Amino acid sequence: MNSIFSATEIDLAFDKQHIWHPYTSMTDPVSVTGVKSAQGCELTLADGSIVIDGTSSWWASIHGYGHPHIINAMQHQLSTLSHVMFGGLTHAPAINLCKRLVEITSPSLTKVFLADSGSIAVEVAMKMAMQYWQGKGHMQKQRMMTVKRGYHGDTFAAMSVCDPDNGMHTMFNEALSEQIFAPAPTSAFNEPVNQQDIAALEAVFAEHHQDIAAFIIEPVMQAAGGMHFYSPQYLQHVRRLCDKYQVLLILDEIATGFGRIGKLFAYEYANIEADILCLGKALTGGYISLAATVCSDDVAQGISHSPASVFMHGPTFMGNPLACAAAEASLSLLQTQDWQSNVAAIANQMQQQLAEAIDYPHVKDVRILGAVGVIEMDKPINISQLQQDFIDQGVWVRPFGNVIYITPPYVISSEQLTQLTQAMKTIAKHINSQQTQAQTPSNG
Ligand code: PMP
Repeated sequence: MNSIFSATEIDLAFDKQHIWHPYTSMTDPVSVTGVKSAQGCELTLADGSIVIDGTSSWWASIHGYGHPHIINAMQHQLSTLSHVMFGGLTHAPAINLCKRLVEITSPSLTKVFLADSGSIAVEVAMKMAMQYWQGKGHMQKQRMMTVKRGYHGDTFAAMSVCDPDNGMHTMFNEALSEQIFAPAPTSAFNEPVNQQDIAALEAVFAEHHQDIAAFIIEPVMQAAGGMHFYSPQYLQHVRRLCDKYQVLLILDEIATGFGRIGKLFAYEYANIEADILCLGKALTGGYISLAATVCSDDVAQGISHSPASVFMHGPTFMGNPLACAAAEASLSLLQTQDWQSNVAAIANQMQQQLAEAIDYPHVKDVRILGAVGVIEMDKPINISQLQQDFIDQGVWVRPFGNVIYITPPYVISSEQLTQLTQAMKTIAKHINSQQTQAQTPSNG
């Protein structure tokens, strides 16, 4: 009998033949696991087994799955106005969301561009910076400066500011804009900044500032580049040098924003303000794709004086009401709940439970900041060899590069978190040379 609803069976054979997954081969795909549903911090897999989610679906699902507040908001929005073009029209979900974003970000950030995904928010930020300098009559300031080991997305402009060695530069070299790279920051989160880093950074500013529109960086945590936490003092120097050399500062908080590393925004650790801020991932609590690029009045003014006089970007699904309603609901949860205590408790527990892993044979480092817990191995991990092992331990953890990490939803219980840290330790302890050979593409 025909039904208006599609089959709920998970046809893995079709999936394998016809559907790309992130960073995979279509002719020799790595295996994927069917998932039927998700609730709280648990995923129910195709075979009925339940695993605890240690990833928050790539750091987005901060309130857990199936949260009634977000679902109600989305259901209401779906039946009222699921989508309408944003050209020439506006609506309450976008306005309410942007009010909140203006309120919770730095005082100087007042103008919001709603984008479809993190990569697009980065593209938008870069275009804003370029148009800004056109408006100021500095037509040559069109390049970007950044640090090595960064990750900002998979679209072309975003790729151009990802790490030139681990990123996709070698593959798309001919087509990528050539950007300016400084060395990655070397001082750890709680260390004073390494003065050699600052000297190296200033040397690059001094040499190239005339061509540079903006400096883009992930504040405090370089995420997909290996979950590295660096000294907030480094960011203070970045801000100082941007001012000194007339370069705009773009902070990419797509991974760090909304409490993930213990502050609502990572820049709060450094007490600095961006000229342009990129948000995504947890913006909607991980329920639907949406991102935002927030800029200062000054940036908006500069763009108005550019030859185009308007900002040249406007995607079809810009300001999608359904996504805005989800984001507003997620932000209202954050603003009314004590997420700080939850994140602090997660950090504490991870500290206690993961610390011993530093003594395991192949472990290079163990580090924790906010609700991010990392065991760094001495070699890259072959995820296709290990994925089933994690599932067998009752958890969904997906390492990349040489890091086994968790970024659990903030609502995780202490028992669930123990199961995650236990599984990480068991796998890190018993990892063998076969499981550490293949290089996995970095993602997140
Ligand atoms: N910037 C950062 C810091 C990210 O971590 C990511 C995604 N991992 C992106 C940008 C790109 O976001 P999206 O995958 O939504 O395009």
